[in-house]
This record gives sequence, structure tokens and C-alpha cells, in this order.
Amino acid sequence: MTRGGHYATALALAGAALLPHGLAFALGAAAGADAPDYLEVPLFDALGRRRSLIAHRTWTHYWPFWAALAAFAVISMPWAAGSALVAFGYALAGLLHLGMDILTPMGIPLRWPPVGRRTSLRVYNTGSLREVAIIGLVWGAAGCLVLVASAVMWLFAWL
Ligand SMILES: [Zn+2]
Repeated sequence: MTRGGHYATALALAGAALLPHGLAFALGAAAGADAPDYLEVPLFDALGRRRSLIAHRTWTHYWPFWAALAAFAVISMPWAAGSALVAFGYALAGLLHLGMDILTPMGIPLRWPPVGRRTSLRVYNTGSLREVAIIGLVWGAAGCLVLVASAVMWLFAWL
């Protein structure tokens, strides 16, 4: 998936900004949308070919690291709510990035060590109409989640 596609899918998480304290989450999600790619420290050679400090789709695309960050953010919410929400948004956007990358033919590593072997579900090719359809599905799912979360919060506000 392209960088624009990753930002477009993470923008779906920005709907959480409508919820109480959702702005911190949305800011973290915006920062994390392309994090698995920019954390590789991409460099370009004289011919414009991408060479990164960390091999593409290896260590930064290993899901347990992102899941651990999300878990740490949830655990630290009681005493660091604002920064924990930013970290939670960052981690969820990172996991969403991996979820979108596993659908491409190149895939992502699922097993340790996260180098060499990748898994792909081969749902779409980058730049295809299927990619746009997947982004639309992510938006629809995120919109439904925000609506349900809003309804639950309104319900608890009335009780
Ligand atoms: Zn990626």
C-alpha cells in the first residue's frame, strides 16, 4: 500500500476525535499511520532506489511489537491518560498499517524472527481499485465503531 493509502485508512481512526478525549487518540493515529515504514529510516541511492536502514517489512512490521505498545498504553491509562491515548492511537494505526500490508502480495512477517519469511493474503495490489475498496471498507467499519461508541457514551451519560 502507498503512503497515501496508509494515511487514508488511518484517517478513518480520526473519527474517534469526535469522542471525549478522542483528539489525543486521533493525533497518535495520524503519527502512527505510516510509522512501520518511516521507522525503517528510508534512504535513497543515486538512482532513486529505496534502501532503508532496516530492511523493508521486517522488524518494524512485526505485529507483536505494535500489540505490546497498545497493551502498554492501555495499562498506563490510569496514570498517564493523555500520553497513553496518543500511544494507543499510534499503536492501533501501526497495527492497521500492518493489516493493510498483509493484504498485499509482499505481505508481512508473522513469526519470529521477523526476517526472511512473510505471509500475504493477496487481496489487492497497490494502486488497484481493490485497494480503494478496502480503504472504503475500513472507513465504513471505523464509522460504525465510532457510532456505537458514541451511542454507548450517550447511554451512560443518561444513566
Ligand atoms: Zn508498510
